[in-house]
Amino acid sequence: MSEAPPNLGPAPAGGGEGRQGILFVISSPSGGGKGTLIRRLLDTVPGVGYSVSWTTRAPRPGEVNGVNYHFVSRDEFERKTRARGFLEWAVVHGNLYGTTRAAVRHELSRGRDIVLEIDVQGAHAVRAWRKLKKSVASIFILPPSFETLRARLTARMTERPEELELRLRNARAEVEQYTHFDYVVLNDEVERAAEELSAIVRAERARRARQEWVARRVLASFGASAAR
Ligand code: 5GP
Repeated sequence: MSEAPPNLGPAPAGGGEGRQGILFVISSPSGGGKGTLIRRLLDTVPGVGYSVSWTTRAPRPGEVNGVNYHFVSRDEFERKTRARGFLEWAVVHGNLYGTTRAAVRHELSRGRDIVLEIDVQGAHAVRAWRKLKKSVASIFILPPSFETLRARLTARMTERPEELELRLRNARAEVEQYTHFDYVVLNDEVERAAEELSAIVRAERARRARQEWVARRVLASFGASAAR
């Protein structure tokens, strides 16, 4: 993300005790526009947190350590890997990126939802975690075309030419991975795509399996059922 995500808001309606948070895994190729859509999501839907990843990539102008990423050396990253501090990590476009285990566990156990903005390898790893399976909803943000992707990446001018080419070369293999995700959002028009992403978050929260504890509480308020 190129701007600071907002502070974590309150837990979703009925949140707190009894509720297990949802892990929203969001992937797209570089330039797919997920940063903008995620920012919109965090601004508009309360109770969604953002997991700040660790990376060995150098900060871009305007990026803030601890906000956009925890920017660390390769040594520091590898120490964390050895200490089993990552829920998942991957080499992406030549740099290391990882999601810390502690932050995710903490948020989920408090009943908060959390967004992981990670690449397709990371998404694969998170989906494979048996313990997390029921907590994960995965979303792939699809650019409308390769040309749009190239135009967006070129226009943002955040990569050196060779880095940009590497990202474009990797894009096709990344887009092919859409088949493994629960949802696909076509990012052809930001307003519409942002709306769709919020709708997915709201719908996932309303799944019966996730509302069991609320429904049971409501049911209990009716008292014991009268025998007829
Ligand atoms: P960027 O360098 O453009 O910020 O990110 C490059 C890629 O790394 C993006 O696809 C982004 O989603 C991914 N990425 C960011 N954080 C993580 C992470 O913690 N784990 C994994 N696997 N990928 C990440």
